[in-house]
This record gives sequence, C-alpha cells and structure tokens, in this order.
Amino acid sequence: MTDVLIVGAGPVGLVLACLLGKQGRSVLVLEKKPARDSASNAIGVTPPSLALLGKLGVATELLQFGASIKRVHVHGQERTILGEVNFPEPILSVPQGVTEMVLEQRVRELSNVTLEYGWQFQSFDQDPEFLMALFQDASGNPRAERALFLVGCDGVHSKVRDSIDVAWKPRRFDSTFLMGDYFDETGWGDEAHLFFTSLGAVESFPLGQGKRRWIVQTSTYLDQPGSYLEDQVQERTGIALDPVTRTWQSPFGIHRWISEHYAWGRVYLAGDSAHQMSPIGGQGMNTGFADAEFLAALLEARLEKPKSKLAERWNTLYSRVRRKAGKTAAARSELSMAVGTVRGWASSPRNALLGWLLQVLRNVIPAHYAMLTIPFRNLAQAKARYPELASFKDIQ
Ligand SMILES: Cc1cc2nc3c(=O)[nH]c(=O)nc-3n(C[C@H](O)[C@H](O)[C@H](O)COP(=O)(O)OP(=O)(O)OC[C@H]3O[C@@H](n4cnc5c(N)ncnc54)[C@H](O)[C@@H]3O)c2cc1C
Repeated sequence: MTDVLIVGAGPVGLVLACLLGKQGRSVLVLEKKPARDSASNAIGVTPPSLALLGKLGVATELLQFGASIKRVHVHGQERTILGEVNFPEPILSVPQGVTEMVLEQRVRELSNVTLEYGWQFQSFDQDPEFLMALFQDASGNPRAERALFLVGCDGVHSKVRDSIDVAWKPRRFDSTFLMGDYFDETGWGDEAHLFFTSLGAVESFPLGQGKRRWIVQTSTYLDQPGSYLEDQVQERTGIALDPVTRTWQSPFGIHRWISEHYAWGRVYLAGDSAHQMSPIGGQGMNTGFADAEFLAALLEARLEKPKSKLAERWNTLYSRVRRKAGKTAAARSELSMAVGTVRGWASSPRNALLGWLLQVLRNVIPAHYAMLTIPFRNLAQAKARYPELASFKDIQ
C-alpha cells in the first residue's frame, strides 16, 4: 500500500511528492494529462518558496533558468516615473513550465516516488485505516489504488474537493488581462517595469533565457487577441514588441475563493484545489508551496505516529494556518489589482497617490510582494505559534 497518493502533477503536487520522497515515504502521483505541458502561467517565485525549493535541491537550477528581480520601476502616464520597489531579497522569475520540469526531474530521481501521466481521479472511499481511490485512463480503463493518505493537488476544478462536497463560493471579478512571452529586446536586464496609464495597466517582467513577460489589462476576456497585446503596449508605453518573437500568449480572468476546510480524516487539499486568487501580485503558487511544506510535515508525523491522539488537531491546524495565509495572500493580490486597474480620469489621482505611497511605504511594499510578511509564510512560523506542532520535522 502506498503511503501518500497525490492527485495532480502541477507545481504543488510535485513539491509535495519531493518533500515526502526525501523522507523515504512511498508516494504515487497520478496526473490526468497525457504528458507535462509547457504553459508559462506563474513566474514569480518568492524568497520563502525559494528557500523551500533549495531544501529540495532545485533552487540553483531554477536560478540558472530564470531572472532574479531586485527592482521594479513604476511608471505613470507617458512613462513618467512614480517610484521604484527594491526587494530586500530578490524574487525569482521563471516560467511555470520550467519550474515543473525541474521539479519533475527531481521526482524522477527519488526511487520511492512514482509519477504517472494519463490517469484521471474519479472518486474515493475512506476507511478509518486507509482509503481506496479510483482512476480512469483516456480509454476508460479503471484503476484502483490503496493508500494511507490522499492529497488533492488537482487545481481549481479539483475533483477531490468535489468528492467531499466542500462548500466553496467562487467570486468572479470584472478585470481581465492578456499576457504574452517575447524575446527581450528592451535592454532592461533583470528589472521589472509597471506602467499605470489612463488606458489601463501594462506589466513587464524578465523571465530569464533572454525572454520577457508582458501583461496588459483588457476590457473583456480576449479569446482571439490577434495583435492586441503588441498594439496596446505600443499605445500605452510607446514600446514596440515584435510579434514574431512571441513564444506564448494567454488571456486570463480573475476568480477568488477559499475552501472552508483543507483536511477530512485522511484526505487533504493543497494549492489551487484549496484556494484561488488573482494572479496579479503572483502569490497563488507560492501559497501552494507553503501548503505543501506544512502538509508534508503533517503527513510525516501521522505516518510516524499512526495512533497519535493529535491527528485531528493537526488536521484542524492545517486548515486554520493555511487558510489564514491563503486569505491574506488573496486579499493582498486583490488590493494590488484594485489599485492597478483604475483607468480613465481617475488614473491621474491614483498615480499621485501611488507615487506618495511608494515613498512612505518603501520598506513595507517590497516585503509585501516578496511574501516576507505573510502570516505563516513557512512551517517554522506555524510551529512557533502552535505547540502541538512541535514534533513536526523540518524537512532538510
Ligand atoms: C496567468 C496566471 C499567472 C500566474 N502567476 C503567478 C505567479 O507569478 N506566482 C504565483 O505564485 N502564482 C501565479 N499564478 C497561480 C499559479 O499558476 C497557480 O497557483 C498554480 O498553478 C497552482 O498549482 P497547483 O499545483 O495547485 O495546481 P495546477 O497547476 O492547476 O495543477 C493541477 C494539476 O492537477 C491535474 N488534475 C486536475 N484534475 C485531475 C484529476 N481529476 N486527476 C488527475 N489529475 C488532475 C491537472 O492536469 C494539473 O496538472 C498564476 C496563474 C495564472 C492563471
């Protein structure tokens, strides 16, 4: 029987598998996609996440692939300068597909961890001692797996979450965006630039490997964007992007919700299966990595002490601690989005206020975006707050 069955090989499932695999636990990861894709989505990896990825032995490789952002230049209308954000510790910017590739390589090195593609989770039965989960492949062939614990790392549309019928109340925002990755011809190196204009926001981040991410605020969700991104960057900032160098493009909308509970007996949620927040501010995946760090320590404690009377309490604290962190990250992302998406006449007073805030909060804003002030940003913080977690091992 497998110790831990993980549904979904996104970044959070892969980190959890690596953490548990390093402890010598048997882990099976089943992923519904036929193979890993290279979608670029999340790029910002904050210092607490990088410290965790360092423990897994993948931080150095990711740093080689990505760009370390130390400074963000903030511009107003006509590229006037409103201020800058200088991070106390750099934020790594690297496409999510690369992060997943490096994590998967690490998973494959762990002989006690198995990762298989092409298996879609269907349902499970929970027993006091173990659980049985059912999967199906693309041809409809069934597969049953027995495990001591099940973790849904299966993203926003989590079937694991649905099978336990958690009350969740998604909230949809009107803001929409379009992003694209291009060869970087700006000469800006590893620096990021934000432009707050009356026509809408433009964001530009280095990605490493000679590439740069551009994001523009849009009026509607653009399924067929054509040259909208290049046109709007030109109009709002005067910068010409060469469409031929575009390697990836995707529109996105904004939803926010958080699961009421993250744990039921032997079943857990981590990452986007438990919470979704605005990508503006770049905190979703990072929040999921911190979920995985806590959960790996919890599962390790439960596997080591199967009869512990603290098991229920640990589950309660997992939900409480990680929900608090998730809610804070979501609220901060929402605030960033609310400030950044003001358009028309109101963008002028917004920019005046922003310029002032960048001055007076120059020590607060960088730590905020680097997630250095998120409650329970790592396991050590949760252990310091709750004595019942004292026996949780820091995975080294
Ligand atoms: C445009 C955009 C930009 C973003 N930028 C950032 C950023 O800069 N920083 C940041 O921290 N976050 C960012 N995010 C958020 C980030 O992408 C997510 O938080 C992250 O992908 C969550 O990882 P996950 O592993 O929890 O879920 P996912 O990445 O969604 O992975 C879930 C996996 O489970 C699989 N799966 C689903 N259902 C099943 C099933 N039934 N059976 C088996 N497998 C299944 C899926 O195929 C998938 O591989 C961004 C998101 C978007 C959309």
